[in-house]
Amino acid sequence: MMQHSAFKELCRLTLFFFLLFCTAPLGTFAYYSITTNNIESTTEKNAESPPNYAPAYLIMDYTNNWLMTDKPVYDPLLVSERKNQKLPTTLPPLTPYYGQKTVYLTFDDGPDPENTPIVLALLNEYQIHATFFLVGSQAEKYPDLIKQIFTAGHAIGNHSYNHNYKDLYRSPQTYLAQLHHTDEIIKQAIGVRPHISRAPGGSAGTFNKAYWNSLEQEGYCDVGWNISSGDASRGTAPQLVANIAEQIQNKALWSHATVLMHDGTGHGETVKALRQIIELFKSQGFEFRVVNFSTPSAW
Ligand SMILES: [Zn+2]
Repeated sequence: MMQHSAFKELCRLTLFFFLLFCTAPLGTFAYYSITTNNIESTTEKNAESPPNYAPAYLIMDYTNNWLMTDKPVYDPLLVSERKNQKLPTTLPPLTPYYGQKTVYLTFDDGPDPENTPIVLALLNEYQIHATFFLVGSQAEKYPDLIKQIFTAGHAIGNHSYNHNYKDLYRSPQTYLAQLHHTDEIIKQAIGVRPHISRAPGGSAGTFNKAYWNSLEQEGYCDVGWNISSGDASRGTAPQLVANIAEQIQNKALWSHATVLMHDGTGHGETVKALRQIIELFKSQGFEFRVVNFSTPSAW
């Protein structure tokens, strides 16, 4: 009798694990491990953090809706490759993550050989992660910086190819063409491309419905901001810190404070201010996250 119930229990357990195994979408995400010149993937089940793992998720198909990760999310395929392979390009409905106190530090217009390495070193010192919206024309000059951002576990986003408003905002097609071009440059450096993008100058006043529709059709998530460091108008480091300190008093932003900064050429003041900016959020108990599918829209 004892043996019989033990056998039944064993069967139950076997069935349970069998079902678990079948339903776990193991193929959906894969950790990517990166070595100097090649990227190899392993499925999540045997991802026991080898030392040089890039903490990123790869989205292989869009059929699952469990994208509540705190890691960057990338696609191994370009939009054109998806289309050629008749794979979906639009994303499933996404669930935003609202924290108690969550901050997304974002850096636009890089990579820059002077500023980006200092930003990376500081983020590493604090063991926090941020998001870099890269301009393609810069990115193609500094593929090693793209790799460094990626392997450190920060998120990479697409910030157009040439950042020229006249070229970019002629039509949704010209805008998308620049995203495609920059995707290719990023993929050439790290083997994957981002899904997140940020419109140069912001989407307000530049995007109409046609732009939003085109982005949606191709699975791009446009990312805005709700706190501006003011570094686009070239403030001094203390001014940038003061700007952020003032805006963060708005408690409505605490669940998803998205801070606009720049690490592009000429933004040395941002670099100077960064330690204090990080300290500001740290001292108030904020959680630092990278932008991905679960990041709520800024407004
Ligand atoms: Zn920009």
